[in-house]
Amino acid sequence: MDTKHSAWSNALEQLQIVADKISLDPGVLARLKTPKRTLEVAVPVVMDDGSTRVFQGFRVQHNIDRGPAKGGVRFAPTVDSDEVKALAMWMTWKCAVVSIPFGGAKGGVAVDPKILSLGELERLTRRFTSEILPILGPEKDVPAPDMGTNAQTMAWMMDAFSQNVGYAVPGVVTGKPLSIGGSAGREEATGRGVAIVTREIARRMGLTLSGASVAIQGFGNVGKNAALILAREFNCRIVAVSDANGGWYDPRGLDVEILARNSAAGGALPSDFPAERLTNAELLELPCDILIPAALENQISAQNAPRIKPKLLIEAANGPTSPDADPILRANGVTVVPDILANAGGVTVSYFEWVQGRDEYFWSIDEVAQRLERIMVNATNEVWAIAQRENVDLRLAAYISGVGRVSEAMHARGHWG
Ligand code: NAD
Repeated sequence: MDTKHSAWSNALEQLQIVADKISLDPGVLARLKTPKRTLEVAVPVVMDDGSTRVFQGFRVQHNIDRGPAKGGVRFAPTVDSDEVKALAMWMTWKCAVVSIPFGGAKGGVAVDPKILSLGELERLTRRFTSEILPILGPEKDVPAPDMGTNAQTMAWMMDAFSQNVGYAVPGVVTGKPLSIGGSAGREEATGRGVAIVTREIARRMGLTLSGASVAIQGFGNVGKNAALILAREFNCRIVAVSDANGGWYDPRGLDVEILARNSAAGGALPSDFPAERLTNAELLELPCDILIPAALENQISAQNAPRIKPKLLIEAANGPTSPDADPILRANGVTVVPDILANAGGVTVSYFEWVQGRDEYFWSIDEVAQRLERIMVNATNEVWAIAQRENVDLRLAAYISGVGRVSEAMHARGHWG
């Protein structure tokens, strides 16, 4: 992993590239370089052994010009202010690329959730929610799951918020369990969006998906669902998958149904499987048609990019490619589909959940899938058309779309100067 660049410096660099390309108003650029609101909190937790530990928590709202702030909550040891700020900025662009009426936010706690008991995790989640509560709310800021968090985490957050205000507020989070107002299809939404975008771009490139070799880094919510959908619905050959400790490789294709059944919550693969072991570094450099990083930021940098040569690189994770890798990948003929388009299926179905909650009228899984399909295809069409028209890569095209929409909203509201 590249340690030279922080996610935040990458996010700022990407913003500067598009600002130069579209001659963005300097006032708008200055405003967008600084998150609107950053809250850092202490999260004290009484551990099972009776001791008290204090964790560091964050919630950053990057921009709310297009609607309430929206973005996940990450529980991971890597969480720090810079990472959360970058993830919040990327949420702003992502919501704009798929044209849903949200701004961008992100939150996190610097903790390894795998080493906490369920009770400790619940106490951590409730206390974190109470600490950031003043800036949360269905009209203000709506968290969702991200790395290290899931539907249960959202249920605890919803309950902690509701306890504090005295009535049930399901709309304060998305990615909730169905029993308390979750949406059908939210669990698999990011992976399904990844699969839809893969299909759309592959078709334009003349790449046949049936039998195409796919390597996926990360086997959590996003990586696992992407693997299952690509294998089941498009007959892709998933040749490698990994978790934080490395992965499994079989050039004939892995049985991802068995891997999914035997993987643990949080995305840990089975430690025994009839295939070859490989490291995360080896997975990224495998010869394959499609590479899908679905774990962490900064996995592909100038150091390893010269050896990374899939036909198609789909950024299911947020920020997996540092800006210095982009020109190398481009020179090697790798088509990169950027995170702000590739993984936007999750926030899109979160938007559906928020809408359904406000109406208190819930849609069928087919309706969710059809609407997701429409939004992802439209956004892909738009980004592709910009790339053709402006003769730029898909990342810059997506940024032109996303940053352009945010800038338009800021000019319409006129309060940024
Ligand atoms: P998750 O916690 O469910 O799974 C993460 C996976 O990555 C696990 O398999 C874990 O073992 C693996 N991993 C952790 N550290 C790793 C390392 N150092 N090297 C390789 N693998 C490692 O998380 P998720 O929700 O699937 O999120 C994955 C990525 O997708 C993140 O970048 C997240 O921001 C992004 N994303 C998630 C959603 C969502 O709806 N969950 C939406 C959009 C984007």
